[in-house]
Amino acid sequence: MTPPRLTQLRCLACAAAHWAIDSDFNGIDGVFVYYLEREYRSPACGYAGAGHAVLRQTPPEFLLQPHPMYPVSRKEFDHWARILKAHFPDHPLVRELGKEFTPNTRVHRTKLHDVRRGLQDRVLSNRKAVVAADLKVVAHAATAEAAEQHMAAPLLRHL
Ligand SMILES: [Zn+2]
Repeated sequence: MTPPRLTQLRCLACAAAHWAIDSDFNGIDGVFVYYLEREYRSPACGYAGAGHAVLRQTPPEFLLQPHPMYPVSRKEFDHWARILKAHFPDHPLVRELGKEFTPNTRVHRTKLHDVRRGLQDRVLSNRKAVVAADLKVVAHAATAEAAEQHMAAPLLRHL
């Protein structure tokens, strides 16, 4: 069984949307049943049966927050938390919003940090390469600094 997700479904009969909480894979044997084949009841018209189409779904990690391995950004968490609160006001996690139920955003920040570090490393190695190349063609190059600035400027602009 995979983590339950908030899933917005469109009714086959009246096309109205409603929300359900369901897992992609149900049961201990983890059998996948297409959402279209699952039976839901449309609160708008009372139709109960298959044929509901999925409109939107939370990421599987949303209801597992704060998850040490699967972070969710604050913006995305707040977006889905509003939907949880509006459509499932009695859900136990609604009471925990802002307390136990809060996003792990730590890994997102680490990823961003790694991206910045990677870019800085590229600029530094680029500078070394420019200086090395410049020393070889010193008779033709204007100055090492001019060449370095020329080569590093496009990369520095992305920092
Ligand atoms: Zn309906």
